[in-house]
Amino acid sequence: MNAAELTGRARTHVVELPEFAATLHVHASTAFESLHRAARSAGFELEIVSSFRDFDRQLAIWNGKFCGERPMFDASGQRIDVQALAAPQRIAAILRWSALPGASRHHWGTDLDLIDRNAVPAAYRPQLTSAEFGPDGPFALLSAWLEANASRFGYFRPFRGVRSGVQPEPWHFSFAPVSEFARRQLTVAVLREAIAAAPLLGKDEVLRGLAEHHARYVAMIDWP
Ligand SMILES: [Zn+2]
Repeated sequence: MNAAELTGRARTHVVELPEFAATLHVHASTAFESLHRAARSAGFELEIVSSFRDFDRQLAIWNGKFCGERPMFDASGQRIDVQALAAPQRIAAILRWSALPGASRHHWGTDLDLIDRNAVPAAYRPQLTSAEFGPDGPFALLSAWLEANASRFGYFRPFRGVRSGVQPEPWHFSFAPVSEFARRQLTVAVLREAIAAAPLLGKDEVLRGLAEHHARYVAMIDWP
């Protein structure tokens, strides 16, 4: 992948998959079709809640939270008053739930958020919470099945809350044969160039801490 693809500023590496209402890297898509078939044989209906997301979309989320237009919550689910926070605390609060634009693995088209549509009523809107994937949640069986089978199709969970600075995301899967290349190609310099050129709120503060951010949220991931 080139620098624009790695940071979500191009779509040349991804293809639309209308049957899954998703957009994925071409190699990840073939493997996903196999994973989907195997899951269906086991009684699950894999639904992709989120796949490729571009830089501008991530930027809109970031800026909306930074200026207080989008609600933000702390670890206990309490609403945060962003106006009361200085830039470094504001940035830390955003990063609890959202990736820095340019640093999201969803830019690569190799990563996707999954649920089991068979496990919930048709009108159910997935929240992507730990409770949904916990032992009493609707996606507990899917979670266990993916843990045992996803790796046969090249998929793994990069966010287990062990080494990665990202909180545990049991719904988030990544196609390792492509995403491992992308992770190594997305250097601090590539990320810096993308952010420096963008109308990002809090940019000076973000750029000051970029190397540390990169080490914690991009370079470091979890393996099974
Ligand atoms: Zn995700």
